[in-house]
Amino acid sequence: MDYKKLAERLLPDALPIAGFEEKYPPRAIANGAEVTRLAPSPTGFIHLGNLFVAIANERIAHLSGGVLYLRIEDTDLKRKVDGAVEAVKNALRYFDIRFDEGAEIDGENAYAPYYQRQRAELYRAFVKDLIARGRAYPCFCTEDALTALRDQQTAEKKITGYYGEYAKCRNLSEEEIYRNLDAGMPYVIRLKSLGNPENKMKFHDEIKGEITVTENDQDVVILKSDGIPTYHFAHAIDDHFMRTTLVIRGEEWLASLPIHLELFEVLGFERPRYGHNCSLMKQDGETRRKLSKRKDPELSLEFYREQGYYARAVKVYMLTLLNSNFEEWYLKNPEKPLEEFPFSVNKMGKSGALFDLDKLNDISKNELAKLSAEETCAFLKNWAQEYGSETEKFYFSNEEYLLKVLNLCMGTAGKKRRKDFTTAKQAMESIAYFFAAAKRSDEYRVDGATKRALLSAFLQTYSFDDDAQVWFAKVKETAGANGFAAEMKDYKANPEAFKGSVADVAEVLRIAVTGKANTPDLWTIMQILGESETRARIMREVGESL
Ligand code: GLU
Repeated sequence: MDYKKLAERLLPDALPIAGFEEKYPPRAIANGAEVTRLAPSPTGFIHLGNLFVAIANERIAHLSGGVLYLRIEDTDLKRKVDGAVEAVKNALRYFDIRFDEGAEIDGENAYAPYYQRQRAELYRAFVKDLIARGRAYPCFCTEDALTALRDQQTAEKKITGYYGEYAKCRNLSEEEIYRNLDAGMPYVIRLKSLGNPENKMKFHDEIKGEITVTENDQDVVILKSDGIPTYHFAHAIDDHFMRTTLVIRGEEWLASLPIHLELFEVLGFERPRYGHNCSLMKQDGETRRKLSKRKDPELSLEFYREQGYYARAVKVYMLTLLNSNFEEWYLKNPEKPLEEFPFSVNKMGKSGALFDLDKLNDISKNELAKLSAEETCAFLKNWAQEYGSETEKFYFSNEEYLLKVLNLCMGTAGKKRRKDFTTAKQAMESIAYFFAAAKRSDEYRVDGATKRALLSAFLQTYSFDDDAQVWFAKVKETAGANGFAAEMKDYKANPEAFKGSVADVAEVLRIAVTGKANTPDLWTIMQILGESETRARIMREVGESL
């Protein structure tokens, strides 16, 4: 068969491959500097697994003095969603993943463009070259024929796909090919695989170590009928010409590795090193399973922004899962920038990382408790602008008041910081009672008449000018006058003699003013709310005007 003639017929306008090596020259980077990438498909769904590998790639690139770039793998138009690239970039920016180059990142450089659909001439040149070398061929099989083949293979319990004896078009004669072409039959271009799945080879994975890989024998499609390459082919060309040195990606790509290895070989490119990162798992009852898009909202990165997770907390947790020695380092260096942690591929886990939202929530509480009230205010404001209700946005119209609230709720004045805030959303909800009438609560543990009696007795003695000690003495007084023990020790000694203790009285007051049984210091809350608001809230619960 005259393969050159066939290549000319199939891709008459494709450029020669000579010249691309010069066009995309090896990078002038120091020895040991790694060029890594994130290569998402613009499907509109960016998930925790993407962030997981993004953090690893970012750390490796920047700690080694290399480059991290963003490539958009948009070869599959069916899955493309408008605005998806912006969504990817926004999501990653939130977690401070800094790309040095790539799609929609300013600055000219030799390796652009970073959208695969804009690189068609490069891919087509190499497809043509493979056809001319007899390593790729046109396949005229219809969708229906391929479905029938898959059904037959499934019925025969064979591996499905286009390979070996099933690769019908691989053996078409020159005459048949030209007859099909003359008849205008649509076709794809497939790789002519020379692999044999009986052959196993050792492969060094940067994360998993020595693994065994089976040779590929699938004649995978490399160019679709619309002239656009498939992901497999495009990624091999791009990783070579963007001069990628290391690919850290999810272990779901291990299954495609044999194809990728053969593609690099047939293209004559030195391949990047690969590290396949373990999947994020979730404990589900007795079993562990992969986080699932359908079942687990926490898989989507959007979840963390909607809930207002503090980005550093998520990053700390991801680093904890990524590098086995991170936790210890962080304990010793809680104040240091995370960039100073000596991240290393060697310390990445070989098998499933257990993702636990409760653990993330604990880390979040700790991280937020390190902030000042002013920093927290800025963090909450950012969140509220995007996700808060109109009422919540209003909290920021008087920042002086808000700061008083935050200082109290975070315990900034005390020896030990409070850890009441987990996310921005939860923090905003938990301070809502400072801004609007408290929710009516059914948490009271006394009956209605006792509640009313206690509240009105307190109101008669309450003065805004009382300091905390005098205020508390009045709470005790209220307790004593209503059959409750003013002193805890009296109550403990003889609980039968009382309706309850001063703690129960304080709880009634607390619920009346805040709608909650658990809050920071109640005297301070009343001071922040002011006299008339405090009185109004208690009066509402008394249910009568005095
Ligand atoms: N485009 C692939 C994805 O959507 C990238 C796979 C790879 O990193 O090679 O994840």
